[in-house]
Amino acid sequence: MIQLENITKTYSGKAKVNALKGISLTIEDGEIFGIIGKSGAGKSTLVRCINMLEKPTEGKVIIDDKDLTLLSEAQLREERKHIGMIFQHFNLLSSRTVFDNIAFPLELAGASKEAIQKKVSDLLELVQLTDRKYNYPAQLSGGQKQRVGIARALAGDPKILLCDEATSALDPQTTKSILELLQDINKRLGITIVLITHEMSVIKDICHRVAVIEGGVIKESGRVVDVFSN
Ligand code: ADP
Ligand code: ADP
Repeated sequence: MIQLENITKTYSGKAKVNALKGISLTIEDGEIFGIIGKSGAGKSTLVRCINMLEKPTEGKVIIDDKDLTLLSEAQLREERKHIGMIFQHFNLLSSRTVFDNIAFPLELAGASKEAIQKKVSDLLELVQLTDRKYNYPAQLSGGQKQRVGIARALAGDPKILLCDEATSALDPQTTKSILELLQDINKRLGITIVLITHEMSVIKDICHRVAVIEGGVIKESGRVVDVFSN
């Protein structure tokens, strides 16, 4: 379970920005939870607080009863192994093949060559890119690149997958296929998915519950059918 308790985030640059103003949320294990809001609402900041890539100014981030805000950087690196993330622009390494992109986190974790072979082969099959393993990112379509991003995010067997506008750079047809893949991963592997988007259709297609964020505040939250019934 993910519990966000009264999270605030103030960016202190030339001008102070109160990006999050007291956000509290509970996300259950195995849920697909959507966070929707306009550009600048605070979605990206919020999702990055879940894996502590952004440190909240105040509040608690509790995952399975552990408060991440109390951990050292070394402890956080351990926790992040159980939290995968995918991005709008995929963030693949252009000089590495599909296989080597997916293998990258496993190499960093010191996995054996055999373990890497097995794991990457399984993941390639899951995202249906086995025939593309020797291609470079530039040789792939957007949808294929995001599949590589998903496979890489799953390499560490995470219990949580964070999706930051993961379909915003894709056309509607490709978006649909990526959402189906995420749904399949949620069902088959039981991974909790937190998905941020500015697109209502994405929320309606796959999310169980949703929070609407505006100006760093949650305006409404609940089951998708209830929040968007009218
Ligand atoms: P969203 O993902 O909903 O577009 P963000 O979380 O990216 O929203 O941004 C929320 C607010 O915080 C915006 O006003 C944005 O300009 C500001 N912001 C985001 N990141 C930074 C940063 N690193 N430094 C200063 N302000 C930031
Ligand atoms: P999608 O529906 O996934 O967006 P595209 O229409 O972009 O697919 O691409 C169709 C096919 O063309 C894909 O199999 C993809 O691998 C291939 N392809 C797309 N861009 C390139 C490229 N720059 N170099 C080589 N193959 C490409």
